[in-house]
Amino acid sequence: MSDFILAEATWKTIKDKKIELAILPWGATEAHNYHLPYGTDNIMVERIARDAAQQAWEKGSGVIVLPAIPFGVNTGQSDIKLDINLNPSTQFAILCDLAEVLNRQQIYKLLILNGHGGNDFRQMIRELGLRYPKMFICCCNWYQSFSNSDFFESGGGHADEMETSVMQYVVPEMVRPLDEAGEGRSKKFRIKALNEKWAWAERRWSQVTSDTGIGNPKKANPEKGEKCYNEVIGKIAGLMTDLCSSDINNMYE
Ligand SMILES: [Zn+2]
Repeated sequence: MSDFILAEATWKTIKDKKIELAILPWGATEAHNYHLPYGTDNIMVERIARDAAQQAWEKGSGVIVLPAIPFGVNTGQSDIKLDINLNPSTQFAILCDLAEVLNRQQIYKLLILNGHGGNDFRQMIRELGLRYPKMFICCCNWYQSFSNSDFFESGGGHADEMETSVMQYVVPEMVRPLDEAGEGRSKKFRIKALNEKWAWAERRWSQVTSDTGIGNPKKANPEKGEKCYNEVIGKIAGLMTDLCSSDINNMYE
């Protein structure tokens, strides 16, 4: 039981506690090649939120981790069995209700900790800022808090070497043997600008990859996962600490 995890805390410990920053982990439920579970993004983002918040808490930061939202934007995977889509407009409605609660209770700082590439909260945060001008709301994609090539030989982005290694470290019992994994081969767009990323379109996942993975997981191991994970926890804990100690009305230098 941890007082900085809302789902585990009691009214007794929460009612008089000074809370500076609420953290909302947000994942997705989707296929992750043949070797990782559908809950991969949720498992990782929840664990990262917990371990980073613990570090921040031990340094005296008033953090509280809210229960994770387990469904993300999977509009491009509508034909992949049991990938569960939450539309961006639904996500915005959820965020409005949560911000309303926090704002009313004078908890003005919110960090959305994101673990899924299809989620993009930036435009929602702009609109929330208009509705709740007293609040400081930010988002962080934990998987962008480090340089992939510092830890891993191959990239990809979905059920790849990085995700597999971190899962092997965090929940080894939930990772299937790598000889069962597909190679995570992916197709590129025929249009050059889309591959160069200065133009953007959603990818139709089932046409891009045959095993639902993007990126070869075969060189993953838990030792790489541990190194990367520790880097991520340090970075995210630092962000939480910085957010807690910041004055919302004096954010620039
Ligand atoms: Zn994932």
